[in-house]
Amino acid sequence: MINKTKVYYGEEGCIHTCQDHFLKEIRCEKCGAPARITMTVSEQIPEQHERDKIIYATDLYHKDDRMWIHDICSVAIYFCPQCLHASVEWNQF
Ligand SMILES: [Zn+2]
Repeated sequence: MINKTKVYYGEEGCIHTCQDHFLKEIRCEKCGAPARITMTVSEQIPEQHERDKIIYATDLYHKDDRMWIHDICSVAIYFCPQCLHASVEWNQF
């Protein structure tokens, strides 16, 4: 199996996305205070010969006993300094 997932810390992760860049801050979904990006998990595009051997970050692929959101996704995790709640934004190809 091949793991093509990469992890980026802090604002470095803003550009490691499948669509528009992730924001440096979002509104905390629990208390509404600004929550800062802390970590981004981004799946890389596999080579054609690797595609049946990939371990996806979500591992939700639902064919041959697995299921996935889509082929490739990026997940950004934000922490709120006020209430310590974690909020998540994600996108996909
Ligand atoms: Zn909060």
